[in-house]
Amino acid sequence: MSIDVRSDLAVRGVRVPTPVRRPAGAGPSDDGHVLIDGQNAALPINPLSPYEVRDDKVWLGDADTGLSLQVVRRPRFYDGETADGVPYEKIARLHGRDILATTVVQTCIRYAEDQRCRFCTIEESLTAGATVAAKTPAQLAEVAEAAVRLDGITQMVMTTGTTTGPDRGARNLVRCVSAVLAAVPGLPIQVQIEPPGDLRVIDDLRAAGTASIGIHVESLDDEVRRRWMPGKGAVPMAEYEAAWDRAVAVFGRNQVSTYLLIGLGEDPDDLVAGAARLIDRGVYPFVVPFRPMPGTLARRDGVTAPAPSLVRDVSERVARLLREAGMLGADQKAGCAACGACGVLQAAGG
Ligand code: SF4
Repeated sequence: MSIDVRSDLAVRGVRVPTPVRRPAGAGPSDDGHVLIDGQNAALPINPLSPYEVRDDKVWLGDADTGLSLQVVRRPRFYDGETADGVPYEKIARLHGRDILATTVVQTCIRYAEDQRCRFCTIEESLTAGATVAAKTPAQLAEVAEAAVRLDGITQMVMTTGTTTGPDRGARNLVRCVSAVLAAVPGLPIQVQIEPPGDLRVIDDLRAAGTASIGIHVESLDDEVRRRWMPGKGAVPMAEYEAAWDRAVAVFGRNQVSTYLLIGLGEDPDDLVAGAARLIDRGVYPFVVPFRPMPGTLARRDGVTAPAPSLVRDVSERVARLLREAGMLGADQKAGCAACGACGVLQAAGG
């Protein structure tokens, strides 16, 4: 796959109607879900993009880019409703072709304007009525069972807004994982948490059957963290390092990942050097282009996405480091690094 075109698509998006989208929510992605040459890809759906899709191919004007593109179809489980009357679609969403994703707590203690991560819209989808504030373990189990049975879901991602307890929301995920695995034994699940204070929660998540874990720092540069994530950036880096190390000890090398966002103003050489240190720790650095989605503070303030050439450069360099270390995203059992749709790292060979 042409990594140039793939990087361009990740930033500039494509003109194609997509039935499966996540227009707002936790994290950095605001995208339609498609398959490019059979690989999951989450792309901005942009009516001004120079790329369009005809005959399942990606075209740049009259030039065939050589990439095939199929949109992900609306899954059948979206038409279901829980025993207590909540549409399944409000409990968990399809990501890519076969990943079930949910934000178990859709609120965040850091959502005040002076604390919020500037790329995040976790509470916007709640305000829009697209989801519910808290999903119960029973609801998650019911939806997961249906999604596996009706749509062939192969893995699940559970993230959470930060809660007030010292565990920052991690302990609730132990209950959620246990409930889902009781309904769907063996389903690979990734949880995404902040450093949880008491590191024994990480052991408990593994004991509950969680397959892999993301502890997402977004940037290793403290000045960037303060500017982009005033609340979360106040968590000392030492807490992330302790949590990563415990997670690698418990889950194993390359079953632990973190996001690093491209486009927050960090020096690219520093970003790649930081990724190398993470790889040495056994942590997969999922480098992902920042995209200023509607509802974010960044979009309101006119911040733009990074240059596609920067996305390609960083992704290629980190992919090379990952290959040299024998740590591929495809070897993660579940989660964003396994999916890869929100970045171009897998397309670059990482
Ligand atoms: S990379 Fe993560 S957030 Fe993006 S589509 Fe895949 S599972 Fe969802």
